[in-house]
Amino acid sequence: MAIFVSGRKGRPRTRVVEFFIQVFVLSVIAYSLYVTTVEIASHSDNWLIIYRGQSVFGGLYLLSVVFLIPRLGIVYVSLTLGRETHNTPKYPLPDKDHLTEPYECVNLDGDLATCTKCSGAWKPPRSFHCSTCGVCRMHFHHHCPWVGNCVTNTRMKTFLSMLLIAPIAFSVSLIPIWHALARHMALALQSSQQDAWAAQFWWDWWGSWIFFGGPLGRWIFGMGLGFHILKAERRDDLPLVEQPNLRLFTICAFGLIFSFFALALALWTIADILRGLTTLDALQERYPNRPSRFVCFPRDNTRDVSRTATAILPGERIYDLGHWVNLRNIFDSEFNNTMGYVWPRLNPFVLDRMQNTIQSE
Ligand SMILES: [Zn+2]
Ligand SMILES: [Zn+2]
Repeated sequence: MAIFVSGRKGRPRTRVVEFFIQVFVLSVIAYSLYVTTVEIASHSDNWLIIYRGQSVFGGLYLLSVVFLIPRLGIVYVSLTLGRETHNTPKYPLPDKDHLTEPYECVNLDGDLATCTKCSGAWKPPRSFHCSTCGVCRMHFHHHCPWVGNCVTNTRMKTFLSMLLIAPIAFSVSLIPIWHALARHMALALQSSQQDAWAAQFWWDWWGSWIFFGGPLGRWIFGMGLGFHILKAERRDDLPLVEQPNLRLFTICAFGLIFSFFALALALWTIADILRGLTTLDALQERYPNRPSRFVCFPRDNTRDVSRTATAILPGERIYDLGHWVNLRNIFDSEFNNTMGYVWPRLNPFVLDRMQNTIQSE
């Protein structure tokens, strides 16, 4: 987490916030590992293996969480690294007179994009200057505040694996305790609603509908109060999962929120990739007033055709090459080689439309 390295570029304040997010996320992951391995499966409380006598199931459970949860932590940390180094390769600005294939440009003269914040360096097509990281990124999708880094094509595989491991790890962690937890939650809710103090403090107060995440938060916080009330009846000699426990409920609530968020983001990102869009493209599609983009057809000396450029129409996806090619462009390493710059291929249907427009003018 190279947070404080750069003082001259990026947004230092955002980075401090992101640093605390990273500490928080890693703490939740580490704590989940402790609860599942030590308190649920084995060791001090021995709930599943010794207390419940389920040694085979307990052993399998232990193996699964020991594999999944650290894996999630490693993938997460790897995404937070290299925010300074993972940069646009410093290719010199190509001479537009020497280009042979159609390419995206910034104006009708066929000029290539440059970045004013990076001393006028070439910004290859589909690159974006991330103001939080302070660098240009090739194949930029979005800046993710949860990992405090940009998500680009080269990181997409790792990013998606993190988003998919999180709900899997959470669901697996929950398997042995689900019944007990559901029972405890029902009991806690009941105790909370029947308690005079909880009614006065929370249920009868109008603010309970607003101040803790709206109507859903009203029930979650109310349930938390129930766990607090039940604490007075708890026996300390029983293991964690045997009786209603606010600690277990809280860590599961965090797990559920993270998993839900991760799964939704994964599906949303995959849908964009299939349509040949980066997250940024998909967001920009919703703003019709964004600056125009152009495609330039280079001069062709063999056919005596001069250079022409034309605007990309709203809704035209120039990098959409069909679902499977779009996916392969992200996941196939051959497309992510660092040996030299590979110009992105353009949608042949859009190119046809453009050439017809140019010829009819
Ligand atoms: Zn830049
Ligand atoms: Zn960034």
